[in-house]
Amino acid sequence: MKPGGHTGKCVRPAKSCIGNIYCKNRLRNSVEMSLRIDERYCGISTLGKLKIAVSGCPNSCAESSVRDIGLIGTVKGWKLLVGGTCGIKPRIGRLLAKNLSDDDVINMINKIINYYKDQGTEKRMPAFIEKIGYEKFSKDILGK
Ligand code: SF4
Repeated sequence: MKPGGHTGKCVRPAKSCIGNIYCKNRLRNSVEMSLRIDERYCGISTLGKLKIAVSGCPNSCAESSVRDIGLIGTVKGWKLLVGGTCGIKPRIGRLLAKNLSDDDVINMINKIINYYKDQGTEKRMPAFIEKIGYEKFSKDILGK
């Protein structure tokens, strides 16, 4: 695993729990998923910092509910939440999709980041989603 190092207005290194090797509660391979996400997106320029967290089960040790994009492993696949943040104005992420395969996750993150890069008006994605409304955001990403 390469150390992090990307700061500023970009996709930050994904935060992962230790679920795939050391934790008996794991339902998905969180470390492998976060490395795959990093390979593809870490350091990509965005309007503001964009944080991703990957937890291997609903205990959510990587704090997936309070990240711009959060993944939570379940028996049937990944849940994907968007719009969470901690900091000055905390927000809990909204469930955008569930039962996703690893490939589905990459495709979904791709859509979200491209949408935010193309349409974003706020320096943080949670504020942008709040501004345009979660319903519009989810409809544009999911196409329904
Ligand atoms: S989120 Fe679940 S799998 Fe990951 S470290 Fe916590 S308990 Fe284990």
